[in-house]
Amino acid sequence: MLVNFQQVLPKAQKEHYAVGLFNALNTEMARGVIGAAEALRSPVIVGTAEILLPFSPLECVADALLFMAKRSSVPVVLHYDHGLTFDKCMEALKLGFTSLMYDCSTDPYEENVRKLTELTRIAHAFGATVEAELGHVGDNDSMETDPSMQDPSAFYTDPVQAKEFVDKTHVDALAIAVGTAHGAYRFPPKLDFERITAIREAIPETPLVLHGGSGLSDEDFRTAIARGIAKVNIFTDINVAGARAIREAVQREKCAMTDLMNLQVEAVKEATMQKMRLFGSEGKA
Ligand SMILES: [Zn+2]
Repeated sequence: MLVNFQQVLPKAQKEHYAVGLFNALNTEMARGVIGAAEALRSPVIVGTAEILLPFSPLECVADALLFMAKRSSVPVVLHYDHGLTFDKCMEALKLGFTSLMYDCSTDPYEENVRKLTELTRIAHAFGATVEAELGHVGDNDSMETDPSMQDPSAFYTDPVQAKEFVDKTHVDALAIAVGTAHGAYRFPPKLDFERITAIREAIPETPLVLHGGSGLSDEDFRTAIARGIAKVNIFTDINVAGARAIREAVQREKCAMTDLMNLQVEAVKEATMQKMRLFGSEGKA
């Protein structure tokens, strides 16, 4: 069934597990992710992100995922991740996404507050939920090339500011910067777990989101979730799992699309189930 954050994240937070967001850009990925959720009786968040639109147009993703979500036997949130512009967020809303992330984390704080307050009012009127990011989760590539990004702790989320931000904007979930980064890690990340606890205590009603989850150790996830993370974003891991299955098949001279499609579904499903078990969402649908 198609739901929004309110139907899955508060329960996850209360019962100390996390629900995964797995982006799905074609029907094979979507079958893998939703198939994993149904096999494990787990709630799931599925969707796409603004930077992924060049690979798969928003309306195609929306049409495919919307039907699959509605038909699913487990709760599925259709989430538009890292919306960068107001217009694209509105487009996602009109296409039927039940949840939006509006990422204004590189704007000045006051601007982030203003933009999220406006977006949240509109999204809530449509029955959709909203995620914001406070502080800034960088990406592994720019950390190497952009000198201003080399000390990520300069952009970590401040618990006191988080409280003020949530009170003003009424967002439904907050992505926090505590030492993760997007993309593939070159070195094992070091998470600021104390900060997760401090933010959890400052905003006990707001589910916290961990971005940049691909590549973290199992122990990192367990600790972060125990300290209050209720949603984890995973993309690189399932993206690579699907591609690896195709590469191996091609090496075995399997070269038709029909040789590869179900292998992609199975590889994405397997990688997704692994994460769901780790996050503790199995059996929580
Ligand atoms: Zn992210």
